[in-house]
This record gives sequence, structure tokens and C-alpha cells, in this order.
Amino acid sequence: MAEKKLPFTKEQLQKIVDQYGTPFHIYDEKAIKENARKLAAVFAWAPGFKEYFAVKATPNPYIMKLLKEEDIGADCSSLPELILSEKVGIKGEDIMFTSNNTAADEFVKAMELGAIINLDDITHIDYLEKHAGVPEVISFRYNPGPLRKGGNAIIGNPEEAKYGLTREQISEAYKIMRDKGVERFGIHTMVISNELDPDYFIETAKMMFDLMVELHKELGIRFELVNFGGGIGIPYRPEDTAVDYEIIGQGVKKLYEEKIAANGLAPLKLALECGRVITGPYGYLVTTAMHTKNIYKNYMGVDASMADLMRPGMYGAYHHLTVVGKENEPHDQVYDVTGSLCENCDKFVVDRNLPKINIGDILVIHDTGAHGHAMGFNYNGKLRSAELLLKEDGSVEMIRRAETIEDYFATLDFSRL
Ligand SMILES: *Cc1c(COP(=O)(O)O)cnc(C)c1O
Repeated sequence: MAEKKLPFTKEQLQKIVDQYGTPFHIYDEKAIKENARKLAAVFAWAPGFKEYFAVKATPNPYIMKLLKEEDIGADCSSLPELILSEKVGIKGEDIMFTSNNTAADEFVKAMELGAIINLDDITHIDYLEKHAGVPEVISFRYNPGPLRKGGNAIIGNPEEAKYGLTREQISEAYKIMRDKGVERFGIHTMVISNELDPDYFIETAKMMFDLMVELHKELGIRFELVNFGGGIGIPYRPEDTAVDYEIIGQGVKKLYEEKIAANGLAPLKLALECGRVITGPYGYLVTTAMHTKNIYKNYMGVDASMADLMRPGMYGAYHHLTVVGKENEPHDQVYDVTGSLCENCDKFVVDRNLPKINIGDILVIHDTGAHGHAMGFNYNGKLRSAELLLKEDGSVEMIRRAETIEDYFATLDFSRL
């Protein structure tokens, strides 16, 4: 059972709250860096290994910049995500453009930045050429559908996923690009999400290496890059175990030697495009207890809402919650901790055993560093919180201010009322 710790003391957090007010998300720079280095270290054997951070997880340029300093690139799927990367100085082949149902202006921008274009569909070949030209490097996203090797359940249910090309289409797509004179090829897949079993990632590598050997034999093309996608899970619950990167690194290494090197296909660059595991555990949503309410259940209303973190409301996802300073008190109360939306799913925890909470107590919701602030929305007139960065030296920098009512009204013109 992993202890869910905080990177600050009660006194340190109180000072931050006094300065910025709640709610806010705060990210732990030191822990993000240490984790990035750990991931890179297990792939040190792999020539040119690259993690492309899935920008959608935490689209904040200051987070992207600190990741860039760890040699992490960007996985983008929209025009604003491409522009964010450009602002941070991530460009060229440090960007992988893994989009779907893509508009022409997005392809144009991705090409302008020199990003690696990863097409989601065979029909996008003509669309891309028409609107943006033929890229120097081309990658396609593979969807294995029902072709699950070995009959295991590793890849969930790819037949139901809207992404990628079928096995038949993928041969055809590379053939078309080869015949257009493209000489540099990548390949991509993303078949799992929030997965804690490292074997699934090794199985994905096996599937992709086998596919590349087949495509090489069929078409005579050589791949320089394979991107296994994201999807590494994180231990949201105290009883969960974090994925051991070392197991993935060693498992993939063995397969690389057996399938890639042995077939004369080395060197091949390996890539991941994880989001969650890169920042998720290192972000915290800090909120203040505002109202207590006892009807058929006990409710504790806080000043954050589902607009700041929608995972619990949307998926019933577990997020650990710490009542700061009461970690060691008996957890002998049962609460639903709620936001203020007029939606009954606006709850951070349901029927959770917690210590007695008093109005004004600071509550910390764990593991909000990915798909947290990013998924925020304005329904019910809710404004999104600020984002803070807890720096390695203990200082705090505001890396995004909270939204204001002016922001909320910015798209309205009241003058014609
Ligand atoms: C969402 C997404 C990712 C990141 O997924 P995580 O679960 O955050 O690692 C990577 N690639 C693609 C194409 C995605 O859609």
C-alpha cells in the first residue's frame, strides 16, 4: 500500500493558500523531473528514444518547457496544441502530430512546424497532399481491431475505437506513400489507457515489431520510428502499484533484439506519447471546505468544483483526498465532498471515510496533474482555477491565473442588447 504523500508541509501550503487563494492546481517540478529521468533511463539502451508528452493532459507552456529541458517532445492533436509547442520552442521532429478527424489548417500548421505527421486514416493521404503537401516523414496509426495476437485481452476492444487504420489499409497506405517517393517512415499505435500492468506495453511492442517485420517484407520499406502511444496508468488508489518502467524497458529490449535487430531492421527509434504518467501524480487540486450539510447523507461543500476536475464526476474515478493536518486523525466520518454545480455528479469523493472536516480546512485532491485542469469547462458559469508550479527551490510560480468573469463573458457582445 503506497502512502499518498504531499510535497509540502501544512505550514508551507497555508502560505501558498494565503497568497493565491483556493482553489488551484499545484504541480511539483522536482518530482516531474525525477520521473522524466527515470523513464529516460530505462530506455537508455534504445537509440534515439523519445517521449512526446501528450499535450492534452496538461496544456500549460511552463510544464511543457520544463519537460523540454528533460528532452521530452510534444504529442499534439489540434492547432492550439501545435501553437503551444511552437511558443515553447518545441518544433520539427520533436513534435508528433497524432490527430484524428483533422482539419486542413491543422495539417498546414503541423507541416509548417516540421512535425512528424501521424495519419489516422487512409483517406487523409489525399487530404493532406491537397491541403499541405507530401511530408518528408510519414507515420500511420495502426488499429489492430480483432487481430489480437495470442488471444489475450491486452488491447481492450480496438474494434470499437474510432482511431487508426486496419491491417489491410496499413499495407496499402505505406505502399501509396512509398510510391509517392517518401523514404522516411514511422508507425504508431495506441491501444490502452490508464493501464497499470507493464506486460500490456510489452505485448504492444511485440505486436508492432511483428507488424514492421511484415511490412518490411511486403513493401521493402524500412521504419526509422515506432511510437507505442501513451496509456501508462498511475496509482490513483493507495492500494495500486505504480508501473515499474524497468520491466517495460527490459521487456521491450529483449523483443527489440529478437525481432528488430535480428531482422536487420536496427537502428529503430522507439517513442512513447504518455501524458498521465508524466505529470498526473505530481499535481494536486487544493480547495477549502466551505459548507457542511447533513441531510440523508453528510456533505462537505468545497470551493472547487467539477469544472476544476471532472474525472470523478465523469467516470466515477477515484482520487485520493487528504484533509491537510489531519492525516493521522481517525477517519471515522463518512462524506461526499461536493462542488457547487447544479449536477449531482459534481462530487470529488462519495461515501469516503475521512477525518472530521471543519469549515476552513484545506483539502488536497491527489493526482490531478494530468487530465485535471485540462478538462475544465465553464458550464453553470463556473470559472477554472489557477495553476501553480512548486519549483525545485521551494518557491511557487503562478503559471496560469484563474479565470475571471471577464474571461467568461469575453465571447459575448452586450452592446447590442
Ligand atoms: C490521450 C492520448 C495520449 C496520452 O494518453 P495518457 O493516458 O495520458 O498517457 C497519447 N496519445 C494519444 C493519441 C492520445 O489520444
